[in-house]
Amino acid sequence: MTNANNTSLEQYEVWFLTGSQHLYGEDVLKQVAAQSREIAAALNGSSDVPVRIVWKPVLTDSDAIRRTALEANSDDAVIGVTAWMHTFSPAKMWIQGLDLLRKPLLHLHTQANVELPWADIDFDFMNLNQAAHGDREFGYIQSRLGVPRKTVVGHVSNPEVSRQVGSWQRASAGWAAVRTLKLTRFGDNMRNVAVTEGDKTEAELRFGVSVNTWSVNELADAVHGAPEADVDALVDEYQRLYAVVPELRTGGARHESLRYSARIELGLRSFLEANGSAAFTTSFEDLGDLRQLPGMAVQRLMADGYGFGAEGDWKTAILVRAAKVMGAGLPGGASLMEDYTYHLVPGQEKILGAHMLEVCPSLTVTTPRVEIHPLGIGAKEDPVRMVFDTDAGHGVVVALSDMRDRFRLVANAVDVVDLDEPLPNLPVARALWSPKPDFTTSAAAWLTAGAAHHTVLTTAVGMDVFEDFAEIARTELLTIDEGTTIRSFKKELAWNAAYYKLASGL
Ligand code: MN
Repeated sequence: MTNANNTSLEQYEVWFLTGSQHLYGEDVLKQVAAQSREIAAALNGSSDVPVRIVWKPVLTDSDAIRRTALEANSDDAVIGVTAWMHTFSPAKMWIQGLDLLRKPLLHLHTQANVELPWADIDFDFMNLNQAAHGDREFGYIQSRLGVPRKTVVGHVSNPEVSRQVGSWQRASAGWAAVRTLKLTRFGDNMRNVAVTEGDKTEAELRFGVSVNTWSVNELADAVHGAPEADVDALVDEYQRLYAVVPELRTGGARHESLRYSARIELGLRSFLEANGSAAFTTSFEDLGDLRQLPGMAVQRLMADGYGFGAEGDWKTAILVRAAKVMGAGLPGGASLMEDYTYHLVPGQEKILGAHMLEVCPSLTVTTPRVEIHPLGIGAKEDPVRMVFDTDAGHGVVVALSDMRDRFRLVANAVDVVDLDEPLPNLPVARALWSPKPDFTTSAAAWLTAGAAHHTVLTTAVGMDVFEDFAEIARTELLTIDEGTTIRSFKKELAWNAAYYKLASGL
């Protein structure tokens, strides 16, 4: 059995379904099968396609389609299905299957050949290669049934096709991870904070995530019961992997604080593993018998694929977990992030993001420093934390708000940039970014949407993956990127308010 925090995409598969009918005879159906196998194999051969595609026998009647949908639903390894109407597959055959299907759907609109065989084309060729209208029939029935799906158009030799298929697979994997997510909360939300609240019962219905709370002293018992030999080994690992400051190293004046930080990691890990939990929250206001606010332990667990939200923020913990899975195997990382303070020099505006302690070191390829500093709030011992600058590159910050009648995702495309100057007195990990389309529009749109101050920052996947994720999750997504203007953004908010009330029905 794999650990709940596993992010490997090798555990998943996507089924490749091909639609046809019996009208054309067995010879044509054999060619349809052979060609669709080649399409599936071509996608499997692309490094942009991370999840294994499993070809299924050509579907030619409604009963087989219905049973395939039910089998896909019941197989936990199947995170989605791809469908292509190679010939013509009369779409009433697909009604029951599509109505029953509960897995993400990608409609691949392609064909076997790139060029028209101008000199040789005859009507046999036309009968075999008619996805141009077979897929239109399929598009009609999907739209009539209101089936959420991703539509990808083009020949599989086009890199953009495999890139889009891969992005959708990543979104589907994130969705599969959220559907099975058990989220452990230690304590409740920070007192009086609004945006970190939310309807946990609704979240389990909409996203499948189960959010439950444990007393922080149960965690403290696990921390204080961590075996001494395990603490020794973990402290050795810290000193091997990171630039640990001398006062924390073996023999240093504050080495005991590093040992206590290792205890927190061991206790957290064992607690979460016992719960089968891949995401968690802490609250600095409710630390019980814990002597430090968990800092480095949280950073290390995030780096191992756990979702995390601070101050009881379980919604952001969901996003961090989803982003960990969606970005598996790619350069870059994902972390809890918080918009902290600005550089407001005209034309050079930037956002400095950080948190009290808990920023994931997957955001850098450099070696983090392990340091200890006082924490102004919480009235506990000084916490140990990793300190680093986030690597420059493209990123997305995403927030999840509970708008009473629905959940709302807001995503902003950003460029993570190098620091203008070092920050020698800032004792936490941080990221500096310039948001798209520009600082003023980004911040105004973010505030107008009521998006949260906690986010996931991912530098591993782009906006397209979150767009696919939102489509799969049937959740509102407002994007802020190069094309955003406040005028159009406000209209979108107004339209969405009406749309989501109508779409949710009575
Ligand atoms: Mn915070």
